[in-house]
Amino acid sequence: MAEETIFSKIIRREIPADILYQDDLVTAFRDINAKAPTHILIIPNHLIPTTNDVKASDEKALGRMVTVAAKLAEEAGIAEDGYRIIMNCNKHGGQEVFHIHMHLLGGCSLGPMLSINS
Ligand code: AMP
Repeated sequence: MAEETIFSKIIRREIPADILYQDDLVTAFRDINAKAPTHILIIPNHLIPTTNDVKASDEKALGRMVTVAAKLAEEAGIAEDGYRIIMNCNKHGGQEVFHIHMHLLGGCSLGPMLSINS
């Protein structure tokens, strides 16, 4: 059984977070350490530790994450100029919180897609 992270507490509103959207499948809230003028995390309400653990039964929630990202991008006024969606997986992906999450980043030019530390 996978261990819960701080994100489960945010979903249950047991700890404070700037929640922008929540429904039966997903929750979206502002990243506490924003890396861009708009930096929102969109997560499934049920715990999936990494993208390696995604099952066919999760497809509805993952599809909703993209729909909600597009809606929040529109609301944030960054849809037309564009934005970046990132999902990090495990050590090489730089994943720190083991409850999958989509980073929605925008509000400025985000530069090259990757900066690789070798
Ligand atoms: P990752 O490196 O992809 O696992 O990203 C984890 C993200 O979660 C980081 O951008 C953190 O700033 C963010 N984060 C961690 N704890 C919180 C929290 N309590 N509220 C909002 N964002 C958080």
